[in-house]
Amino acid sequence: MLEPFPEDAVVRADRVFVALRKSGRVASSKSRVFHAVTPHCRMSLCADEPGPGSHWAEPPGQQITCPACLRRLSRLQ
Ligand SMILES: [Zn+2]
Repeated sequence: MLEPFPEDAVVRADRVFVALRKSGRVASSKSRVFHAVTPHCRMSLCADEPGPGSHWAEPPGQQITCPACLRRLSRLQ
């Protein structure tokens, strides 16, 4: 059963990813990176995750910008 996901979601090898960035204070431009994250999953494709007590920020971005996530996405094709 498929759950609804944003139009901007990326589908690769039957997996769904949305572009999410870490929430909270923007300490550096690094935290504005959008990772590929499966909906309702805590860990991103590049094995990054929000800190303890934190979460991914909503709404999802339109594009995944994390180089590590993009590299892994390309391998899933
Ligand atoms: Zn990433």
